[in-house]
Amino acid sequence: MAPTSRRPHRQRPTTHRTRPRLTCTRAGDGALLGRFILDDAAATEFEKALRNAVTYDGDNDTRTHPQRNGDAIFDIAAFYNNNHTGDGTRRHLPHISISADLTTLTDTPIAINDDDARLVHPSCTDTYLCDCIIHAILRDTNGTPHSYGRSRYVVPRKLFRQIATRDGGCRFPGCDRNIRHCDAHHIQWWRHQGTTEYTNLVLLCSRHHHLVHHQHLHLKLLPNNELHVTWHNGQHQTSQPRGAPPKRKP
Ligand SMILES: [Zn+2]
Ligand SMILES: [Zn+2]
Repeated sequence: MAPTSRRPHRQRPTTHRTRPRLTCTRAGDGALLGRFILDDAAATEFEKALRNAVTYDGDNDTRTHPQRNGDAIFDIAAFYNNNHTGDGTRRHLPHISISADLTTLTDTPIAINDDDARLVHPSCTDTYLCDCIIHAILRDTNGTPHSYGRSRYVVPRKLFRQIATRDGGCRFPGCDRNIRHCDAHHIQWWRHQGTTEYTNLVLLCSRHHHLVHHQHLHLKLLPNNELHVTWHNGQHQTSQPRGAPPKRKP
């Protein structure tokens, strides 16, 4: 039988470009469910971003591959929110704005997301309170604002730089996220009267910052700057600072 000759397949130029689109909605438990379609160019960028953002925490990493991808999307979104080009200061771009009732902060903080009026999970509120700008607004009983206090940084820039110089990035054991991904976390929580000072602050990337508040992990910073992290089941890990400590104690 004579071999059949095959012409190389010629791909027809497509006349209709796939339009990237995304639809998503919140489920009853607060999870975001969605479906997206990306054309080749967008898919290439997306896959590259995912590969850049995904982390592997070594032998202690029990996350599945899809879970690591989900965490990577969280990091991508948080990094964009922290580094976009909107108005604001270098470290506190206006991205997530919440309103919290001051009288609830000593117990379970009640706050709403100003963008969509949804209740914010208390652990998320605690995470944001660690490192944000606080705008004090007094409202009357109808919720109408009638006076504004001065805005203030929870962690002033100079102090953040000192912590960043010491930590060099996220201090969660095994994490190598750099300073641009990080918030300052109060080891004794800000809401529990934790002081905003050098020895009570460590850098954590957005994902690990939320994790620490959500799981109420116990952190302890030793005088030699070794950080001890303890889980409720007794699991215990340590991390070393990756930066150089400041010469003079602030
Ligand atoms: Zn925190
Ligand atoms: Zn981290």
